[in-house]
Formats: sequence, C-alpha cells, structure tokens
Amino acid sequence: MGLTPLEDVQAAILRECLPLTPRAVDLQDALGCVTSTPLQAEELVPPFDNTAMDGFAVQSRDTTDSPVELKIVATLAAGADPSAVHVGAGQAVRIMTGAPMPSGADAVVMVELTHTEDDVVVVEHRAETGKHVRRAGDDLKPGDVVVGAGTVLTPAHLGVLASLGYQRVPVFPRPRVGVLSTGDELVEGAGELRPGQIRDSNRPTLLALVKQSGFTPVDLGLARDDETTIADAVDRGLATCDALVTSGGVSVGDFDYVKAVLDRLGSMRWWQVAIRPAKPLAFGTVGGKPVFGLPGNPVSSMVSFELFARPALRQMGGHRRLFRRQVEAVAAEPIRRRPDGKLHLVRVVASVGEDGRWRVKPVGGQGSHQLAAAAAANALALVPDGEGAPAGTTVGVLVLSEDLLS
Ligand code: AMP
Ligand code: MG
Repeated sequence: MGLTPLEDVQAAILRECLPLTPRAVDLQDALGCVTSTPLQAEELVPPFDNTAMDGFAVQSRDTTDSPVELKIVATLAAGADPSAVHVGAGQAVRIMTGAPMPSGADAVVMVELTHTEDDVVVVEHRAETGKHVRRAGDDLKPGDVVVGAGTVLTPAHLGVLASLGYQRVPVFPRPRVGVLSTGDELVEGAGELRPGQIRDSNRPTLLALVKQSGFTPVDLGLARDDETTIADAVDRGLATCDALVTSGGVSVGDFDYVKAVLDRLGSMRWWQVAIRPAKPLAFGTVGGKPVFGLPGNPVSSMVSFELFARPALRQMGGHRRLFRRQVEAVAAEPIRRRPDGKLHLVRVVASVGEDGRWRVKPVGGQGSHQLAAAAAANALALVPDGEGAPAGTTVGVLVLSEDLLS
C-alpha cells in the first residue's frame, strides 16, 4: 500500500468531522467554547449614571469660583437607591464609587480635593460638567453585538455576558472524547510487571491531550487484543461520546484487531501516512461518530493525535482555526535524517532568541518509543524528505506549547 501525503489525510478526516449541533450551556462551563450565534446586549451597561470616584456629587456651576463651601445633604453608598436624594444649588452629596448619581448633580469632586467640617465640604477646585461620572450605557447599549458568532469565549467575555444577565450561552458543545488503550501487554497502575508486560502510558497522555485541547475526556480503560472486548469498549464509548480515540492495534501485526473491529462496526479507512513517526492510522465513522485509531507507540500516538484528531475535534467544537501555529525557525543544531519518502516530525525544543527569531534544537532520542525524550520537546520540526536541515538553515515548526506564543 502506498504512502498518502499528510495534507490529504488531514483533509479527508476534516470532511467527516462536522461541527456538533449548537446548544445553550451554563456560562461557567463555557470558557473556551465557540459561540454559534452573535450575542447582543439587551440592556444598558452600566445600567445608570454612577460615580467613578469616592467624593462629592455637586452641581458643577457651584464650583466655578472655587474654593467654595457646599452643604452636605446626604450620603450615597454603592447599591443605594438615589430616588429620595437631590442636590440643589449650594449643596453636595457624599458619594462612593459605583453609587448612582443623585438628581440635580452633574459632576463628582474627588474626596482628595476637598476637606470637610461637620456638614460642610470645601471644594478647592472647579469641577467640569460630567467629571468622574460614568454614563449609563457607556460600555454597552441595547442592540450592541458583544460577542460575534465563532468567538472563542475568554474569561472577559464571560464577565461581559454576566454583566448583561446571560446565564446560558449558545455554543458548539465541547466534544466528549472517549480514550481506549488496546494491547495484551499493557498493565494499569503500579503493580509489578510480569515478563513481557509494560505500563499503559498512552491513555494518560491522550486523556490529558483531550483535556488540554478543551474537550471533555472520557476514560474507556484498557482492552485486551480480542475482537469482542474491543468491540464492547467501542460500543460503550460511542453510547456517550461524540468521538473516540483508540491506541494500538492498527499496524500490520498478527494481533492488530482494532482495524478489524472498526471495519466491521463502521465505515473505516486505513492509511499509511507519509510521515514519521505515526505512519499507520485508522479513521472512520461508526454510527456517524468519528473514530481515530492511533498507532500504539507512545510518541506516535501523541503526534498522531496532534496532527489528525486535534484539528478534527476542534472543527467539531466549532473552531475556525484548526491547526497549531506554524513558524519558521533556524536549526540551532543540525537536524539529521535519511531520505525515506516521508515527512519527519522531529521533536524539538523551540525558543525565541533575543533577535526575535525562532530557533530549534532536536531533543535526544527520536525513536517512536522514546516518550521521555519527546516529553522534553515543545514543538515539532517539519523536516521534508531528504538529508535533513544543516545548522543555520530554516525549517517549519509546529508550536505545541501555547505558553511559547503568549
Ligand atoms: P501496536 O500499535 O499495538 O502494534 O503497538 C506498537 C507499540 O506500542 C508496541 O511496542 C506496544 O507495546 C506499544 N504500545 C501500545 N499501546 C501502548 C500504550 N497504551 N502504552 C504504552 N505503549 C503502548
Ligand atoms: Mg498492540
């Protein structure tokens, strides 16, 4: 079977992973979700004229010939009802930040620019009309679009929506993603390893990648290399999830049953992608839900998730930017490889130098089983087929760590 270019496989997968049906979710669950419609203000923010400072609400014309003495007739704290309070000529109202402006007043004098004696305040400087007054609707008016459709909701967006009384927001739901490990050799937990056994490391990695990407992870456990067990786990997962990610069992080994099971349950494709690591990939839909059969080698499953599952799941979650940011970086050390017809995704440490340019250094072990080495990387260099990238030359790099971009 021939090798398929990376972009062709990514495009074929994206065609099958359509955005989930939008629904209203609680505001506090909406961080990072994508809005499905524009959201409008239906009230004024702030809802009434109020003071931006602690001080005295006055009639500005009284302060023209300052210093001037005004009579303090009332006090208004934040939250107070101002309807019974009025500022007449020669009068002032003691007022705290956020309190509504009383009728009659058109300016606030900061407390720092006054001094008081009993019920008299001396205003030392002239206050212009509107000084320190926050007008009703200064921030938002009915009809203003506060968040456009397709916006990734940030903490500040949630605050704006809360200021308008929104309790639920229409968004594309976060995909629920089931994660299943397969393999007779795998053990869970800390127990002693019998001959031939290894610990399951893919599941914690993939569950964490799902979570870090803003989706909801669902742990489907560990399945033996046995068609019935794998089929049961897939059925169980699809009953509650929007998509599944499995690891292992998609190569050409004698006990690679995942492909057989998925072939039987749904409409699956099986690729040999022209990349290294993560060459084998099974993908398809079972009952209309995407299933990603990732390879078992720990680094391969991680890279495969990054390249194929994450963009597709982001599309399901309504995101418009699907792929990791790609930058051009200088190879600080030679990145060696041999021609093999594949694009190599070399695990590298990326950083931005003092000159503002990105640079990368390969981490030690580049074997697809060497997860410890890969864990030191924060980016993948895209090294095209050939002899590699000599030091000082430029390579394309997928930045995996959001921290590097902030
Ligand atoms: P497979 O794709 O099932 O042929 O597995 C390829 C390699 O990855 C083998 O060395 C497996 O032991 C290893 N492997 C498969 N699944 C896992 C896992 N969940 N955790 C760690 N290693 C795994
Ligand atoms: Mg296996």
